[in-house]
Amino acid sequence: MSEVPSLPMPMPMPAPDACSRPYWDGANQDVFRFQRCRACGRAQFYPRSLCAHCQGADLGWETAAGPGRVASFSVIHRAPLPAFASAVPYVLALIDLDEGVRFMCNVLNCDPATVRIGMRVRLCFQARPGSTQKVPQVEPAES
Ligand SMILES: [Zn+2]
Repeated sequence: MSEVPSLPMPMPMPAPDACSRPYWDGANQDVFRFQRCRACGRAQFYPRSLCAHCQGADLGWETAAGPGRVASFSVIHRAPLPAFASAVPYVLALIDLDEGVRFMCNVLNCDPATVRIGMRVRLCFQARPGSTQKVPQVEPAES
């Protein structure tokens, strides 16, 4: 894994609650956790208290191995907040992890013009200034 770039300004940060705490604690350990329903066996992301497929309440946590694929993306040229001004242009993407969960993040460590739908990526974890919380991101798998 190559070095994850740091950002110069405080960024908007998550506010973990009882439901999402295992996910965010995992990110701080460079681990991506997602839920799997013990009733129907399906995976889901983001963290919820009930299964999105069968409404079952018996959910367990699993760890993603790391590889995935770009499902969709956009290159952001105008910062939505001043904190993102130094980061533009950057890639905001929907990633399908190999375990079958989709999440939104940035594609780091590459020229935004090289990102393509279907591109293989791997997880990386970005520290944010002014916070002890890391954020799951991805980078090209072939670097
Ligand atoms: Zn279920």
